[in-house]
This record gives sequence, structure tokens and C-alpha cells, in this order.
Amino acid sequence: CLIFFMEEVDVEGRVRIVMESALTARDRVGVQDFVLLEKYNSEAALIENLRRRFGENLIYTYIGSVLVSVNPYKELEMYSKQQMERYRGVSFYEISPHIYALSDNTYRAMRTERKDQCIMISGESGAGKTEASKKILLYYTVTCPINEHMATLGDRLLQSNPVLEAFGNAKTFRNDNSSRFGKYMDVQFDFRGAPVGGHILNYLLEKSRVVHQNHGERNFHIFYQLLDGGDDDLLTTLALERNPQSYNYLVKGNCPRLSSVSDKNNWKVVMKALSVIGFTEEEKLLDIIASVLHLGNTQFGEGEEGETYITTETQITHLAKVSTVPPVSLDVHICKNTMISPLNFEQAMSARDALAKAVYGRTFTWLVEKINQSLALKGCTVIGLLDIYGFEVLQHNSFEQFCINYCNEKLQQLFIELTLRSEQEEYETEGIAWETVQYIDNKIICDLIEEKHKGIISILDEECLRPGETCDVSFLEKLEDTLGGHPHFVTHKLANGKTRRVMSREEFRLLHYAGEVNYNVNGFLDKNNDLLNRNLKEVMCQSDNQILCHCFRREEVIHQKRPEMAATQFKNSLMKLMEILMSKEPSYVRCIKPNDAKQPGRFDEVLVRHQVKYLGLMENLRVRRAGFAYRRCFEAFLQRYKPLCPETWPNWHGRLADGVSTLVNHLGYKAEEYKLGRSKIFIRFPKTLFSTEDALQAK
Ligand code: ADP
Ligand code: MG
Repeated sequence: CLIFFMEEVDVEGRVRIVMESALTARDRVGVQDFVLLEKYNSEAALIENLRRRFGENLIYTYIGSVLVSVNPYKELEMYSKQQMERYRGVSFYEISPHIYALSDNTYRAMRTERKDQCIMISGESGAGKTEASKKILLYYTVTCPINEHMATLGDRLLQSNPVLEAFGNAKTFRNDNSSRFGKYMDVQFDFRGAPVGGHILNYLLEKSRVVHQNHGERNFHIFYQLLDGGDDDLLTTLALERNPQSYNYLVKGNCPRLSSVSDKNNWKVVMKALSVIGFTEEEKLLDIIASVLHLGNTQFGEGEEGETYITTETQITHLAKVSTVPPVSLDVHICKNTMISPLNFEQAMSARDALAKAVYGRTFTWLVEKINQSLALKGCTVIGLLDIYGFEVLQHNSFEQFCINYCNEKLQQLFIELTLRSEQEEYETEGIAWETVQYIDNKIICDLIEEKHKGIISILDEECLRPGETCDVSFLEKLEDTLGGHPHFVTHKLANGKTRRVMSREEFRLLHYAGEVNYNVNGFLDKNNDLLNRNLKEVMCQSDNQILCHCFRREEVIHQKRPEMAATQFKNSLMKLMEILMSKEPSYVRCIKPNDAKQPGRFDEVLVRHQVKYLGLMENLRVRRAGFAYRRCFEAFLQRYKPLCPETWPNWHGRLADGVSTLVNHLGYKAEEYKLGRSKIFIRFPKTLFSTEDALQAK
């Protein structure tokens, strides 16, 4: 029986060396790399392996070079500075899997190959994406050399997080600190490998949250932080009360406080972060936040002829004061579409909400620009971090889920393309004949959504622009006319009662690579239109607040060019993102949420199985396994396994390739089971012995 020395990090962050036989070790902690699982094509084996490791606080596991992470929902002492040092410069597979190993590996690839890198983090809400991206950033700011001219850059990079989280994160059902926007961040390095700049791109902020929250959820953190943390003078100036329950925009979810975080403390953190970043416009920014709250408290009455008027005069006065817009204009324009056509009660409410959403959304974009200015400096190479919403299936799926899942469809397509490309390239450099790889291509689904003229987004835009009576249902009918018969598109009518799950007449179903999702068309047209009436834009242009002036430009009102529709805008920004990612060397982090209760120690298998599916982990594995699952440089391979063969132990003196083939022959591999390239050995399916390979330090 083989005895191995194994190195693992325990809960306290101590490194222990344990001596175990290969088999018992695997039984206890599972394997560190899924590619090495013997029952490689079984989802059950993959999940069981995750469960075992999770039970031992081993939250990280690899699928080849993909890092899988399971949210521990407790602080693990594995992120210390000593741990960072441990992972610095160490080969990826020689030490237990860790987010630092991936960070380090990426950094070194950038340095040695002088090629831009990107780390794509995916997973559903609450799975740990944002935490992972913060850990990567921290790793770089702590371990990389410092450029004297940019000594404070690391701080600014790190401090951009609390600011963006205050304005872009909120408590949701799934996550107390859920990012409500997608984020791509470039960290730029100089020729010596010191971080010298950064740039952030943001995607699709969930603006609807400003005016409405579901039960148990909150609005964006900043509102509560201001009310809880702002001093008395500040609140008086802004004409605000301390109690969040006084504000219509904060009461919908009936959840003013969070047990897990203190708004008051975070307020201090955010204010400090703003000053580190070099902000000078705090006051203006807070004026806008207060304006949104006052706007939400603006109420309407209905006159005898159905005309609408504002009943909360003082509210308008406050609003006018903090937003520095003349009160008369506000009064008139929230209630009237143009001077002659008054809005009815409902329309006035939605005009008000549209204004609140536009003000908040544009201010958020401004904030990102501002942070970018403070990080700006061109480095020579880049590591990009993508922290973007994962595949989402809710009880009720709407326009937002449609966009999010479309994004994931694109990322999956990119993954397949890049993985296959890099496989092919590696085979070529190693001089090994390329063999066709079987995989599911999801291009057909991407086309279904984004194709010109007959894709879902085009049809949606067309419906939004078509004069006359259009509505969500006419959009659905148009979809049926154009897409009927498409293998990935189903509606109630098209299915003819042949689907397993009941569909309502307002839904269409897409068969995504990760599974089926029903989308309810209600609200699609409005959300895609995202219209703010022209007069209100004009009113905002009159503001003395420089941020608002910047966000609402005169040109927009004068030229009256219709801005791109929301879905098309999103599609175009995704296209650009794909280009950015394509031009870089990719690494992947796949995050998994072990339970819905946000509790440590609980591993809900059903929930995990869903995510394994949505994350496409089995697909990852299949693409990886379609060719050669295992590869390693001759030298490293020999060094590691030479104790297993009498002829190679303690040292091999001949050609490396010969040593390697002596070793694998001794281990019982047949000629068709492996190939020797120019510098690497490729093994199709590594056997039992290797299944503990990554966990074990060979004797
Ligand atoms: P996501 O961005 O995927 O929605 P987050 O990164 O915000 O999820 O994580 C949700 C919560 O889970 C965090 O607020 C934190 O409490 C916990 N968490 C996530 N990753 C870790 C980790 N590595 N260690 C400890 N707690 C974590
Ligand atoms: Mg997040």
C-alpha cells in the first residue's frame, strides 16, 4: 500500500502534514481536481466530492484549471498574509487549491508571457463571487511590488469596492450584500509587475429597486447608511428624518435594518473610502440621494376632470432645494406630459418613479466614471476581473432574468471557444495530432436571442418602436410568428399542451444550455423602452448640481435622438465585453452556494446539483476530458512520481522523455492511453493513482 504525505490547511489556517494511505485520504477529503475523478462523467460523483471537501472546510477544488469554490458562510483563516506568501510562486497543482493559487498563477502568466489575463467569476447570487474578486484584488495589492509614483493606487483600488457596494448593492432574499450590477475591472500593471492603474465597466444596474423592493428586501445600502450614519446637521440640511420607515421608497420590503451589518459603521467606511479615492463632490452626491427620497414621498391627488396635482407641497419644496431645480418646473412636469396634456394619477406616479430611477441610475454611472478617473494610468499589461450575475431562474422571470441569462449564454459560448482554442494551440505546440472534441455548442441559443431582424431582442425593439397599439402580448404573438418551430423556443400555443410543465399564456420558454426558463412578457416593453419624458429631462438640465448637469445633458433634450433600447444597449455592451475577454488569457472561478439559509456547515445537495448544472460544470469537465485530461511537463512529472518506479528512483539520468515513458509504462499505461509531446506528457484518463495526486505530496 502506498503511503503519502499530505499537506492540508486546517480551519485555523495551520498547515498540517498528514501521513495517509492514498485510498483513505481520498475517502476523507475527496480529490482536489475533478478531472482526476475516476467516475469522471457522473454528476453524483462530482457532487459527493464537493460535499466531502466542504465538510473538511476545503472549499476550493479544481476542474483542470477551473477553480470551483463553495461558500463557507463563515470566516476561514486561510486568507492571511502568511497564506499569501505560501502561494507565491508555487506551481498551481503542487499545493492545495486556493483562490490565491489562481491569482498567483494568473499574475505569473501575465509576467512571463507578457500577455493580458482575465479571471471570470460566475455563480448565482450569494455564491461568493464578489468576495472572491475582493480576495484576488487584495492578493495583488499585498503581494505585488509597489510603484513609488503610484503608492496609493492599491488603496484606491481596494476602496473603490465599499463605494460601489454602497450604491450598487442591496439586501435581497438570497444575499444580504447582493451586487445589483455586473462589474468588469481591469487592474493594470507596469513593466515591473506593480499595479499602476485600474478601470471599471459596469453593466445593467437594477434600477427598479430604487422605487420598489420585494418583501424582505431593501433598497440600495446608501439610503440607509445616510439616514443611520449621517450627523444631525447633515440630515437637517437635507431635510431628512432618521427613520427609514418615513420614506416610501424604503418601506416596500418592510425590512429597514440588517442583522448582519451596521449601516452606521458602513457609512463611515464609505465616507472614508470616498476621501481615499479623492472625491470632492460628496455633498452633491448626497443631495441627489436625498432628492430621490423626497421624490418618493411626493404624492398626488386627482381633480374633478381627472387631472393630477401634487398634494405634498413641502415635499416639493425640499426636493427643489436639494436637487436645486425650480419647484414650479418640478410640480408642473411631474403631473403633465406636455403643457397641454395632463397625466392621470397612474401616469403621474410612473413619471415620478421613472425620474427617480433615471436620476439614480445615471448618478451611479457618473460615480463609476469618477472612480475610473482616480484610477486612471495606463499600465503595460492587464488582469481583468469579471464579477457578473450568474444564470438566474426565479419563480417569476422577467426582462432582467432574460438579460442575465443571455449574458451567461454568451459567457458559456466564450468558455467553450476559448477552452477549445487553447487545447488546440497546446496540441499544436506539443506536436500532437488534433482530435475532434465533442461538446454542446450553444451558438444556436445565442443566435435565437441576438440575431439581427429575427432574434428576440430585435423583435422586442421593433415592437417598442411600432406605432399604434403594441403591448406585451402583441410582442409575444410576434415572437410566436417569427420563431415558431425553433428548437429552443416554446410558448403555450406552440407547445400544444405537449410540455411537461404548465405554461401561462403570457410566457415564452427558452431552452438554455443550463436548462429551461419561462419568461413572463409582462413589462418587457416598458423595461426595454426605459423612457423618461422629455420635459422631466429638461427640468433636470436646469439643476445647479454639477453631477445632475453632467448626467442630464442639454444635447439629449435638444437633439431628441432616441437612445438605444435597454436590451440592445445591453447586447452591445456584452459584445464589447466579449471582445475584451477574447483578447485575454482566461481563468475561471465557479462559485457555488451550499444552502439558501446563508448558514455555515450546511450542504444542500439538491441546491448544489442545480448550480453544478447552471454553471455548466459537467460541460467544463467534458470539454477538458474530451482530449487529454491530464498534462504535465516532463520534468515536473518525473520529479513528482519518480518514487513510484525503481528505475527512476532516486534519479533518472537519461533523456527526460525516456524517463517519463519508463515511468508510465511501469505504472501500466498502454500506448494509446497517453502521448508524449515535445515537452509534456498527455494522459487521456489518469488512473486511481493520480486521483489523489493533487492532494498528496509524494514521498
Ligand atoms: P455574490 O457576489 O456571488 O452574490 P458574495 O460574494 O456577496 O456573493 O457572498 C455572499 C456572502 O457570503 C458574503 O457576504 C459573505 O458573508 C459570504 N462569503 C462568500 N464567500 C466567502 C468566503 N470565501 N469566506 C467567508 N464568507 C464568504
Ligand atoms: Mg456580488
